[in-house]
Amino acid sequence: MPSLTQLEAQRRAEIISISGYDVRLDLNRGAELFGSTTTIRFAAEPGSETFLDVAPRELHRVQLNGHDVDPATHAAGRLPLHDLAAENEVTVEATMAYSNDGEGLHRHVDPADGSVYLYAMSFLDAAPRWFACFDQPDLKAPFALTVDCPADWTVIGNGPALQVGAGRWRIETAHPIATYFATLVAGPYHSVIAEHDGIRLGVHARASLAAHLDGQSAELIELTSRCLDEFHRLFGIRYPWGEYHQAFVPDFNAGAMENPGCVTIRDTYVFRSRVTDLERGQLAVLVAHEMAHMWFGDLVTMRWWDDLWLNESFAEYLGYRVSDAVTEQQPWVEFGARRKSWGYAADRRPSTHPVAGNGAADAKTALNDFDGISYAKGAAVLRQLGAHLGDDVLLGGLRDHFHAHAYGNATFADLIGAWTAAGAHDMQGWADAWLRTAGLDTLRATVEDGIVRVARSSAVARPHAVSVATLDAHAGELHRERALILDPVRIPVRSMPALVLPDVADETWAKIAFDNDAWQRMPALLPSIKDQLARVSIWNALRLGVADAEIAPSLALRIVESAAEGEPSEVVLGTVLGWAVDTLAGAYLPAGPVRADAFARLAAAAHETMTAAAPASGRQLTGVRAFVSASDDVELLRKWLRDDALLPGMAVDDELRWAMIERLASLGALDSAGIDRELAQDRSTQGTVHAARCRALLPDPEAKAVAWQSMLTDAGRSNHELYATAEGFWRPEQTAITAPFVRRYFERIAGTAGLRSGWVVARLALLAYPRTAVDRATLDLSEALLGHDDLDSGIRRSVVDASDDLRRALASRERFG
Ligand SMILES: [Zn+2]
Repeated sequence: MPSLTQLEAQRRAEIISISGYDVRLDLNRGAELFGSTTTIRFAAEPGSETFLDVAPRELHRVQLNGHDVDPATHAAGRLPLHDLAAENEVTVEATMAYSNDGEGLHRHVDPADGSVYLYAMSFLDAAPRWFACFDQPDLKAPFALTVDCPADWTVIGNGPALQVGAGRWRIETAHPIATYFATLVAGPYHSVIAEHDGIRLGVHARASLAAHLDGQSAELIELTSRCLDEFHRLFGIRYPWGEYHQAFVPDFNAGAMENPGCVTIRDTYVFRSRVTDLERGQLAVLVAHEMAHMWFGDLVTMRWWDDLWLNESFAEYLGYRVSDAVTEQQPWVEFGARRKSWGYAADRRPSTHPVAGNGAADAKTALNDFDGISYAKGAAVLRQLGAHLGDDVLLGGLRDHFHAHAYGNATFADLIGAWTAAGAHDMQGWADAWLRTAGLDTLRATVEDGIVRVARSSAVARPHAVSVATLDAHAGELHRERALILDPVRIPVRSMPALVLPDVADETWAKIAFDNDAWQRMPALLPSIKDQLARVSIWNALRLGVADAEIAPSLALRIVESAAEGEPSEVVLGTVLGWAVDTLAGAYLPAGPVRADAFARLAAAAHETMTAAAPASGRQLTGVRAFVSASDDVELLRKWLRDDALLPGMAVDDELRWAMIERLASLGALDSAGIDRELAQDRSTQGTVHAARCRALLPDPEAKAVAWQSMLTDAGRSNHELYATAEGFWRPEQTAITAPFVRRYFERIAGTAGLRSGWVVARLALLAYPRTAVDRATLDLSEALLGHDDLDSGIRRSVVDASDDLRRALASRERFG
């Protein structure tokens, strides 16, 4: 289907404006199909023509202003409407199909009890998969929904849901919303309802997760309430959407979606097992992030997808800022160690792009740029903007922007205007440097004649507001001062420092480069550095240096070994050990004894951490997870699995049990029948996904062939089972078994665009890429595939990015052996 272009959207918005949607769904028609009847009232330029977006299984009847429109005129997802009047009413009666890919109206059967759960995901262009509409962000309208469904179901949506009969519900929004925000959550969901400051709050999950949701709901509602208070304080405008529901739903592609009044969240965030500070902190940031969108995105919506970055950069920035204000977590530490690392990788790839101003000629192109740059870099840059403008101007401009465009649409230029009116100077110059040019500056410090000099690498005039610190040989801080690095900064020092940290509080967006002597000192120095953000800045410099083939993987391994145990943040500890196992040992170090030695040393480091940690602590769990991922001690893993007596305070719960089973499967210590037995003990959605990963992990040619067939040809598998299969398929210790599939990937992956649609196409192409075949031949095959002009744009992006990772690993091996 052709993707809507910006020109088409502009033209349509000039011709029509929408008064309201009335959508009726019949969900009593079995497991595959549902009825969808949409009536839209809209004004138009008399005599003009336009088109509706609709993706039905069958189009039964279309009436425009009382006259029949031939359904056979529907083609490629569009239904032409001719000879429009000043005021129009169109009704479209269709049969539509449930999806299994997390978009449109997704249907999930809970393996725990056979119950059926639905939710609708309209982002980015999936609304026409469940109702006929004019699908573009600037044609907003009030949305009414009537649902016929089984009598024991709960129904939630963008406005208060009223049960108007047995198995009949009615939902109306009080204000206009964009079509990509329309949602519906329906099924025998379990709910916890509360109220805060006059706002009705609901949290919902599948019945099989009821006990876990109940256990978590008090904390969730407290968090939600605090976030609401903080956003009211920051924005000065009350929450605009009446009730606030958070529905935890199965098979969700993203972390969550900011539908007004009804946020949908991936239901692995209902914790069925013990979690660490990482998961708790991520959930807090996610709750705050989605709530930020209620104003930024939902109340004021971008005019076109080219400003999608602005939505996400702001929500990401505010998600971290607000969770920092209202929780005991340290979200900026997680942001530095995990999110920035994701964005840094994206910003150094051939596919990098500016944060803003990428055009987005059509809707699908916008989705491809929805990456670590839109989120992590955008948020880091907005922190820099906060330093540049000061908080009063930053928030003052935002408030004026919300007031001026409430319930409507706006562009980045409008926001720049609001900041300028609030007192900002040279916003254009600042935006050109930070938002309209791609790439990562390198900050490098040198010391000569009692002067520390910090310089930037790039020709683009990006000012970095940072704190520069110097450390002595025992990691004692000698000196720290604020600096604005645009031209080289000179700081006089009394004694020769052992290390200069150009961004000690991890505030900017840059690669920090230390010289080789500093890296050689790092195994001794880093364990003594206590400041968490200073350590994050060093860990990031290490990972970037390894990826640029500047630091030998063997040295990086020694630094991880020496400094992991003393790492004060369990979030950073887990992140660094995970990187060392998957990337450093799994890809950068060559196969054979060198890699086996690295896995053994990392397992030993993780073991040391977990035995030193307090019983039942998150730190202990972080160490255990890392140990399980690196260890090849089959007997020990089996014993832990059998005895359920791992360490003091550490019970083997569902998720930890599956981590061990997955490791045993990848080591060949478990067969298919063994996986069946394990699945019989956990017949949940999560258990099914874990079992799919286990089957793909087996070092057995037959199991690999079955997994391969399912990834490349089976359209019936749900998105998360598919992702798990692809995640398990390629293992660094199984390259001999998977070698025949390398070529097959390049022969077959393009064809999956015809088998599936939406997010899942690009995601599978990324996860199924032969990442463990680190050699020239894989790069040559990648280049050859990219030479095909007709390759799906999402698959193209995945192959570009995955082959860049592989190229970096190869460059490191070529330099360091
Ligand atoms: Zn978002």
